[in-house]
Amino acid sequence: MPLLRDVFIALSGNKVLNDASKKIGLKFGANKVVGGITVDETIERIKDINSQGMSVSFDNLGEFVTNKTDATKEKDLILKMIQAIGEEGVDASASVKLSQIGLNIDYDFCLDNVREIMDAAKTHDMFVNIDMENHAAYDDTIRIVDQLMEEYDNVGTVLQSYLFSAKDDVYKYKDKRIRFVKGAYKESPQVALQAKEDIDKALELLIRLHLTKGEGFTSIATHDHNIIEDIIEFIKENNIPNDRFEFQMLFGFRKELQRELVERGYSVCVYIPFGTDWYAYFMRRLAERPQNINLVVKSLTND
Ligand code: FAD
Repeated sequence: MPLLRDVFIALSGNKVLNDASKKIGLKFGANKVVGGITVDETIERIKDINSQGMSVSFDNLGEFVTNKTDATKEKDLILKMIQAIGEEGVDASASVKLSQIGLNIDYDFCLDNVREIMDAAKTHDMFVNIDMENHAAYDDTIRIVDQLMEEYDNVGTVLQSYLFSAKDDVYKYKDKRIRFVKGAYKESPQVALQAKEDIDKALELLIRLHLTKGEGFTSIATHDHNIIEDIIEFIKENNIPNDRFEFQMLFGFRKELQRELVERGYSVCVYIPFGTDWYAYFMRRLAERPQNINLVVKSLTND
């Protein structure tokens, strides 16, 4: 459904709708894929997910922040969530997008912000994942990740299988905690694979390399049951212990598959976005899988 995909991508970038959505709370079924607007609401969701035997990585929604005041506000909200997680004793880690805390404004300002987050997380023995954004942010993100990895042992990042550079990176980060994804942004053929089959194949290869070439921890972040089953077969054939990897999925997606993996004895981590900036995230999820439109239809018929 390429046309529908383009419609949702265009809607996700609409500034008027983005601004309006911040004032109206979670609408159109977005509450099925977003943990909550506030820290307190999200903590309740995290407790619920933990009670189902799964851990959580939270994400403060919103990216591409363009001024220091907003970036500081976003960093403070992340700190508030870390504090609440520590106080409540729930099983959750942080996922951080550097463009939200100043990467596009000033490199050193961003580094200071992320260090503050790292320090707060460290006091609660919490892992922090630095999410990977579009390719334009790749070099700076990797530079900050490498710097943080020298200073902290509770930090990891993401490798996107569509990027040509991912194969070198998997060796570089073979002993680190790394999340593997296909990649969510539209990138040029100069830097990224374009065909779905090639991206899928690359994802499997990267995961296999990471599981066998070093001592790292592998987060397998996909909703693709074919890839998940292939990797499980590989894990069994190679006797990889269950504490060396986990599966990750987005909150609200493939809940039965999440449950099934837990029942089969595997670790599952649910990525739970929260905050007022839910609209663009929600539209991107609809673009990725237009069948998710049924969330919107159901919410409208139930209201
Ligand atoms: P897809 O290619 O979307 O789907 C493959 C197949 O899986 C489909 O054909 C279908 O058969 C099945 N399927 C998928 N969804 C469903 C569903 N809801 N119901 C039923 N069947 C379904 N991207 C980044 O670029 N940077 C990041 O930091 C990042 N972090 C992420 C963190 C997590 C936890 C996850 C899950 C994804 C993250 N992504 C990130 C997004 C990722 O790159 C992909 O864009 C996204 O996950 C879609 O690809 P997929 O592997 O899930 O499978």
